[in-house]
Amino acid sequence: MKFSFLAFSLLLLLNFPVSAQDGHRKHFTIPDIEGFHTLKGDFHIHTVFSDGLVWPDLRVLEAWKEGLDVISITEHIEYQPFKENVKGDHNRAYDLAVAKADELGILLIRGSEITRKMPPGHSNALFTTDNNLLDTPKWEDAFTEAKKQGAFIFWNHPGWKAQQPDSMMWFPEHTLLQSEGKMHGIEIVNYKEYYPGAFQWALDKKLTIMGNSDIHGSIFQEYDISAGKYRPLTLVFTRERSIKGVKDALFEGRTAVLYNGTIYGREEWVSKLYKACIGVEPDVAAASGKSRSIFITNYSSIDLYLTPGKEAEKHGMIYPQELPAHSTIRLTAQAAKAEETLKPSQQFEFSVDNMLVAPEKPLKVNLKF
Ligand SMILES: [Zn+2]
Ligand SMILES: [Zn+2]
Repeated sequence: MKFSFLAFSLLLLLNFPVSAQDGHRKHFTIPDIEGFHTLKGDFHIHTVFSDGLVWPDLRVLEAWKEGLDVISITEHIEYQPFKENVKGDHNRAYDLAVAKADELGILLIRGSEITRKMPPGHSNALFTTDNNLLDTPKWEDAFTEAKKQGAFIFWNHPGWKAQQPDSMMWFPEHTLLQSEGKMHGIEIVNYKEYYPGAFQWALDKKLTIMGNSDIHGSIFQEYDISAGKYRPLTLVFTRERSIKGVKDALFEGRTAVLYNGTIYGREEWVSKLYKACIGVEPDVAAASGKSRSIFITNYSSIDLYLTPGKEAEKHGMIYPQELPAHSTIRLTAQAAKAEETLKPSQQFEFSVDNMLVAPEKPLKVNLKF
């Protein structure tokens, strides 16, 4: 007994680093796009400091292991069921997690969930400086304070059935918030739900497109990562890999969402992302006037699905093509008629079925043969 107590005291004196094993980080490749870094983010996360079930450090570790770059822990201001057991103010979760984030190179953004009944419903404020000041009796004052702190504010789960039981509605309060510079974005994916109507609102009303986990339990409990089921991600296209870079990108609408193998976003950014994922090489040796082939490579970790357009179909490419992650396929165009000669660099249109630029509208691309 005496000896082990002595050994323990010595360990303390030596400040021996006793820490849990962090395990490994998964490399999920989504290439940088021209002129910008592509960062993988989740901007809606809970811990025991509101109604989540895990400690803040673990959120950072989960993000690191899953290959994310940036997160925000966004506790409910108005709802803290564990507060009898977990002491701390509205900044505490961030303050506890930031050391782990620095250690692992995860960008951690201070934020909070303003949790009100509909309208305006729940909203996240990111890049806040003091979450405690958002604790106001009137929801209007919480938004005014968030704006004063320079926050980027987005509407959470706008189609959540608990608050929008009949149909997803846009209220005058939302128009007011947006016109006053107190709403800059909207979740089109939350947890395991995709809201096509919110995607259309984002496009029409120029709101930044967001997709987040709103995770409460452990990430491994909620998403079966071993089966390739990941949390939704907000992809952020930043000029620099920093909190400031992320903030500028969110305010300027430079995002896309990846969920369940599908990319959602504005055409400008989705087409840049497609170009970064794909490489095309003509098969010069096999080229003739009657047939031309290309090797098309997918450098990303996202399986892509290409459907030939009308002209491509006429030229022998009749089936939708699967272009798996980190793989190359060969496509061949054939002369449609006996008298036709295929010109070099002839282009055919395809749609990328799992890259959507509006609800049910896939990105159209041209492949050069
Ligand atoms: Zn919420
Ligand atoms: Zn939430």
